[in-house]
Amino acid sequence: FRHGEPSEVVVSTPNGFVPFGEHHPLVTIAGPCSVENEEMIVYTAQRVKAAGAKFLRGGAYKPRTSPYAFQGHGESALNLLIAARDATGLGIITEVMDTADLEKVAAVADIVQVGARNMQNFPLLKKVGAQDKPVFLKRGMSATIEEWLMAAEYIMAAGNPNVILCERGIRGFDRQYARNTLDLSVIPVLRSLTHLPIAIDPSHGTGKAEYVPSMAMAAIAAGTDSLMIEVHPNPAKALSDGPQSLTPERFDSLMQELAVVGKAM
Ligand code: PEP
Ligand code: MN
Repeated sequence: FRHGEPSEVVVSTPNGFVPFGEHHPLVTIAGPCSVENEEMIVYTAQRVKAAGAKFLRGGAYKPRTSPYAFQGHGESALNLLIAARDATGLGIITEVMDTADLEKVAAVADIVQVGARNMQNFPLLKKVGAQDKPVFLKRGMSATIEEWLMAAEYIMAAGNPNVILCERGIRGFDRQYARNTLDLSVIPVLRSLTHLPIAIDPSHGTGKAEYVPSMAMAAIAAGTDSLMIEVHPNPAKALSDGPQSLTPERFDSLMQELAVVGKAM
């Protein structure tokens, strides 16, 4: 693996530069799984900003298991993310699934997300590596740490050193209670292998809102640099990932609980 890569990723947002890394405060990314409409995304952005989040997440292009499930509003959702950014100054992170959409996504996103299902989409990795926006690289659900770091290497080898590694849970043998197995052991392991900033996504990692707070606290105790948490104004009505989404109220109280666990925010 490469050495001498930056141990921080500094992201430009309307509210200023936000650094990710071991020697910086925890950066929280929050927002709905999918961008559903203007009112909900702007409202959610305002609520997560008030709670202390620095980035708004929200999918325009959604990688859904079923082709009959909501696929995201695509390009029109990108415009809604601009509205949310204009209203709050939060940085925007959203997923790119297809090389053909990268230019449009990168024009809106302050951080471009590559999802778990595309972690080894090598043409996509090369293309996000050849543009300037930082990349949030989610671990594939069956990817080894070596495969994950090699995926990051594809991005860096193409010229973009600004990669954040996000653990989002891996496939275990028991999905009865939790959607995935959140592998928090990657935090110390990655620290020993790479300088890249580390993020933990306890929402996809557990699949259940009630399990998110304890895993978020554990991730901070283990030294994560960043958290990604799904927040929806009405989880019961969400078009995707409602069961794992926190309400804005619960997110706000969680942020207060997190502040006492570790790393200053
Ligand atoms: C998401 O962030 O909404 C998402 C689809 O994540 P993952 O790629 O980790 O499943
Ligand atoms: Mn989701």
